[in-house]
Amino acid sequence: MPSKLLDALLLAMPLSPTLESWRQYLKSQLPYPVQGAQTLFIGDPALVIVVFQHDKAEVLLPAMEWRHHDIHTVKPRSQGVIDACSGSLEQLLALVEDTIALRLKSFHECSSCGKRCAPEVLGSLKGEPVCRDCIKGRRVLF
Ligand SMILES: [Zn+2]
Repeated sequence: MPSKLLDALLLAMPLSPTLESWRQYLKSQLPYPVQGAQTLFIGDPALVIVVFQHDKAEVLLPAMEWRHHDIHTVKPRSQGVIDACSGSLEQLLALVEDTIALRLKSFHECSSCGKRCAPEVLGSLKGEPVCRDCIKGRRVLF
């Protein structure tokens, strides 16, 4: 179990030039909005999360877990780690693309407006997936 102090130390360490260049590439070259600094949240909603540590980059799938019908927690699942010394940007990009593809597969079409939505913003109405916007609209109507 890593301690909070160790976490703080790792975060305080500067990234290697290799990792920094990978980070900049992801921030500027992907066709998605990117948020975050040392941890990048790519896409809105997040399609993939890339965590940079001092000598490696970990790629995570943003998987959601339902707790209540309206409350979810983010439980990212690790898809792999690319080491700055033995790995390459190509490997990192391949992992990122695979993770995005996996994430998009979990999206469903809203049965009301047809928009493809992340599972965490979909509810259900009479057993059909309906997005949050459409559910909100309904609540206003009734
Ligand atoms: Zn909808």
